Amino acid sequence: MDLLFRNARLVDTPGLVDVAVADGVITAVTASAPASADDALRGAPADGEVVDCAGRVVVPGLVEAHLHVDKALLDRERPNPDGTLAGAISVTGELKRGFTHETVRDRARAVLDQAVTNGTTLVRAHPDVDPIVGLIGVDVLLGLRDEYRDVLDLQVVAFPQEGIRKAPGTLGLLREALRNGADVIGGCTYNELTLADCHAHVETVLDLAEEFGVPADMHADFADDTSDPRYALAGYVADAVVARGMQGRVALGHVTSVASLPAAERAALFARLAAADVAVVPLPATDLHLGGRRDDADVRRGVVPVRELWAAGVTAAYSSNNVRNAFTPFGNADMLDIGLLLAQVGHLSGPDDLARVLAMATTGAARVVGVGDRYGIRVGADADLVVLSTTDPTGVLLDRPDRAFVVKRGRIVARTVRTITLSRNTPTKELSNA
Ligand SMILES: [Zn+2]
Repeated sequence: MDLLFRNARLVDTPGLVDVAVADGVITAVTASAPASADDALRGAPADGEVVDCAGRVVVPGLVEAHLHVDKALLDRERPNPDGTLAGAISVTGELKRGFTHETVRDRARAVLDQAVTNGTTLVRAHPDVDPIVGLIGVDVLLGLRDEYRDVLDLQVVAFPQEGIRKAPGTLGLLREALRNGADVIGGCTYNELTLADCHAHVETVLDLAEEFGVPADMHADFADDTSDPRYALAGYVADAVVARGMQGRVALGHVTSVASLPAAERAALFARLAAADVAVVPLPATDLHLGGRRDDADVRRGVVPVRELWAAGVTAAYSSNNVRNAFTPFGNADMLDIGLLLAQVGHLSGPDDLARVLAMATTGAARVVGVGDRYGIRVGADADLVVLSTTDPTGVLLDRPDRAFVVKRGRIVARTVRTITLSRNTPTKELSNA
């Protein structure tokens, strides 16, 4: 045994448990023995280290299923001129002309370090692949996938942000990225000039997924409504996935335009997505920031209705998407912050709803990125977990407690210790999470 987490409180199990870890894998989850006078004498087992969680909540490592690591932290270089999606793509396209391996690597490391300290143990990164930036983002992320191997699993998506047909040369670059080891093929289904080209974009992405044996993860339907049919392709994708037998291998990010459909049409679409096992990943920080920009009154939220995804049985995660750039000038790569935002905008409250939102960042996201079979706090799963500085499982999203310990494959990779001193009365009272 390498590590033993005693007196851990799981969000879905009554009482406290001890979680034993060896060789990076969870080897036992057993009910904690009541504290006794012998405990102090017993101390740490000879062959491992003991962390006394003291009733604190322990969750599996958080999974950031959709993050643009290569474009993070650009907001100080140039902001979005008009707050729209078109403005964000335009200004970022200009900034990309100046990207070098070094500048992308520096910003990527900064945001990945932030993610790890905030309890994230897996990131699916979507670096741009296009004739402007070439393979700089993919090259850097493939390097960081090795560099971060001990602290974070990194999946690299080859993402054609500028379109495929619209940006000649992109298809060859996508193939090169996949040959070089990219884990996932991305897509930007709406960024083509015609609906026919958007359909061809989807088919090309799915062709590449089949040819290289990788999953597909596409940006889709990112608009306030479906008046432009290029932003109403989720159903087309679902049908294509079924036709190809690719169920469970495709995820869609954003999917905001569906929110403007009548309820019956939404339900029918979500049923098609569920039947095709196409996952949906709302990206509320970006969706809210760029959505509704042209609404003069009744400004739309532009976030996919999460409760309806749950009701339809659609596999769902949520994610940060961007951290401080023209698409999203906010964020700290903190999945608990984004979860609270999603709960607030989605009319999701109370212990049951909040637990389901949190599960979107853990088991839901693990399914979306294809690691569900080795994920969770259970025997045989990877020992990726987070000890939170709270004993209240219902308060995880409300309080967004410090991540006291972040554990990757059985090794503590980040710690947060904070002392708050409250000097209201004498004597001074010390509150500490250590
Ligand atoms: Zn994105």
